[in-house]
Amino acid sequence: MKVLLNGKIIDRKDAKVDIEDRGYQFGDGIYEAIRVYQGQLFTFQEHMQRLYRSAEKIDLTIPYTQEMFKAWFTELIAKNQLETGMIYFQVSRGVQAPRNHIYQESLTPAIMATTMAAPRDLSEHRKGIKTITVPDTRWLHCDIKSLNLLGNLMATNQAAKAGAKEAIFYRSPDTVTECSHSNVSIIKEGVLITHPANEYILNGITRQVILSLAKQLSIPFEERPFTLAELKAADEVFISSISAEVTAVGQVDDVTIGNGKIGPVSEKILTAFTNEIEKNCGI
Ligand code: PLP
Repeated sequence: MKVLLNGKIIDRKDAKVDIEDRGYQFGDGIYEAIRVYQGQLFTFQEHMQRLYRSAEKIDLTIPYTQEMFKAWFTELIAKNQLETGMIYFQVSRGVQAPRNHIYQESLTPAIMATTMAAPRDLSEHRKGIKTITVPDTRWLHCDIKSLNLLGNLMATNQAAKAGAKEAIFYRSPDTVTECSHSNVSIIKEGVLITHPANEYILNGITRQVILSLAKQLSIPFEERPFTLAELKAADEVFISSISAEVTAVGQVDDVTIGNGKIGPVSEKILTAFTNEIEKNCGI
């Protein structure tokens, strides 16, 4: 298994990070995860744009171009013979000693990337997952894809302990935001409703693809906060992320959504999403 570390593709066992890397000590960095289908990067540009935007928001200058990342990822995919899966990569501010909250301007950001195989399993998308609702106690910069994921991890693990696949966050009973590692959308009377892309959510690349597909399919949609009551009374609920793609939610807490499986509007979007992958990655 090969990984990318600071511009070099090396063996996983040789990849070592300094203990005074600010990503390790402070979570001072950002990350992305890009889906790979049949060895092809899906929505690469969109992910890179989000990476550079996250970097700007934390005052971090990435000294590498999109083309450099593409060349590294292409090499990594080939060397690891990755077909369908994902690339995880992160950029931390770099090594600074002694530890200091104030970052030096002159640091060289540390970058790393790994690959992971993850075959598509559409039956998982359709069968209807169980979810729980959890108060959203995270910070107010959820639009930054930051390495700091403790709030997300706490919720994910709470869900796992409850036998659920995902935790759906709410800021108040009036505002459902997103999930611990995905976005959430509801369908009510044919209208898709999802939280607007602001500082309360990570604007998922999958969410963006879905909204553009909804437009093409003439599925009306509203980007507005919805309530816990609307969530539980929805005709359909689905989560979205690069790994979930469009995954139906069959249960929210102890409430069954629809017939507990994927509904007709979500199915239409999932089919269009699959076509989009085929168009771009030839599967
Ligand atoms: N929201 C959160 C908190 C996430 O962690 C993720 C994915 O990791 C998403 C939304 C979905 O983003 P994307 O569609 O880009 O995977």
